[in-house]
Amino acid sequence: MDCKKIQDVIFNFVYGESSEAELLATRDHLEKCGDCAREKQVIEKLLDKIKNCEAQETVTEDCRDRMLSKIKNSLAGEEPAS
Ligand SMILES: [Zn+2]
Repeated sequence: MDCKKIQDVIFNFVYGESSEAELLATRDHLEKCGDCAREKQVIEKLLDKIKNCEAQETVTEDCRDRMLSKIKNSLAGEEPAS
Protein backbone atom coordinates (compact mmCIF):
# COMPACT_ATOMS: atom_id res chain seq x y z
CA MET A 1 0.00 0.00 0.00
CA ASP A 2 1.50 3.35 -1.00
CA CYS A 3 0.21 6.90 -0.60
CA LYS A 4 -1.46 6.99 -4.00
CA LYS A 5 -3.31 3.80 -3.28
CA ILE A 6 -4.42 5.20 0.06
CA GLN A 7 -6.04 8.14 -1.69
CA ASP A 8 -8.19 5.67 -3.60
CA VAL A 9 -9.34 3.77 -0.54
CA ILE A 10 -9.37 6.38 2.22
CA PHE A 11 -12.99 7.41 1.66
CA ASN A 12 -14.09 3.80 2.00
CA PHE A 13 -11.96 3.54 5.11
CA VAL A 14 -13.44 6.62 6.75
CA TYR A 15 -16.96 5.61 5.75
CA GLY A 16 -16.33 2.17 7.22
CA GLU A 17 -16.91 0.53 3.85
CA SER A 18 -13.47 -0.99 3.31
CA SER A 19 -13.08 -4.70 2.78
CA GLU A 20 -11.27 -6.50 5.59
CA ALA A 21 -7.97 -6.65 3.68
CA GLU A 22 -8.25 -3.03 2.61
CA LEU A 23 -9.04 -1.93 6.14
CA LEU A 24 -5.99 -3.67 7.58
CA ALA A 25 -3.67 -2.39 4.87
CA THR A 26 -4.99 1.16 5.22
CA ARG A 27 -4.70 1.14 9.00
CA ASP A 28 -1.19 -0.24 8.72
CA HIS A 29 -0.17 2.51 6.29
CA LEU A 30 -1.73 5.26 8.43
CA GLU A 31 0.33 4.13 11.41
CA LYS A 32 3.53 4.57 9.42
CA CYS A 33 2.70 7.55 7.26
CA GLY A 34 2.10 10.89 8.98
CA ASP A 35 0.94 12.60 5.80
CA CYS A 36 -1.83 10.12 5.13
CA ALA A 37 -2.79 10.04 8.80
CA ARG A 38 -3.24 13.82 8.72
CA GLU A 39 -5.26 13.56 5.56
CA LYS A 40 -7.50 10.98 7.16
CA GLN A 41 -8.10 13.33 10.12
CA VAL A 42 -9.09 16.12 7.76
CA ILE A 43 -11.55 13.84 5.99
CA GLU A 44 -12.98 12.62 9.29
CA LYS A 45 -13.55 16.19 10.44
CA LEU A 46 -15.27 17.09 7.21
CA LEU A 47 -17.42 13.97 7.37
CA ASP A 48 -18.49 15.04 10.85
CA LYS A 49 -19.63 18.29 9.35
CA ILE A 50 -21.53 16.41 6.68
CA LYS A 51 -23.32 14.46 9.40
CA ASN A 52 -24.24 17.67 11.21
CA CYS A 53 -25.28 19.10 7.91
CA GLU A 54 -27.51 16.13 7.19
CA ALA A 55 -29.08 16.41 10.62
CA GLN A 56 -29.90 20.06 10.14
CA GLU A 57 -30.87 20.49 6.55
CA THR A 58 -33.72 19.04 4.61
CA VAL A 59 -31.88 19.20 1.28
CA THR A 60 -29.32 16.67 2.42
CA GLU A 61 -27.97 15.51 -0.88
CA ASP A 62 -27.11 18.99 -2.02
CA CYS A 63 -25.42 19.67 1.30
CA ARG A 64 -23.49 16.44 1.15
CA ASP A 65 -22.35 17.07 -2.40
CA ARG A 66 -21.06 20.50 -1.42
CA MET A 67 -19.11 19.06 1.50
CA LEU A 68 -17.67 16.28 -0.63
CA SER A 69 -16.48 18.75 -3.23
CA LYS A 70 -14.84 20.75 -0.44
CA ILE A 71 -13.04 17.63 0.71
CA LYS A 72 -11.89 16.88 -2.81
CA ASN A 73 -10.67 20.45 -3.26
CA SER A 74 -8.75 20.36 -0.02
CA LEU A 75 -7.14 17.06 -1.00
CA ALA A 76 -6.16 18.64 -4.30
CA GLY A 77 -4.41 21.37 -2.31
CA GLU A 78 -6.86 24.08 -3.28
CA GLU A 79 -8.66 26.41 -0.92
CA PRO A 80 -12.19 25.16 -0.45
CA ALA A 81 -14.72 27.58 -1.86
CA SER A 82 -17.11 28.53 0.89
ZN1 LIG B 1 1.05 7.69 2.98
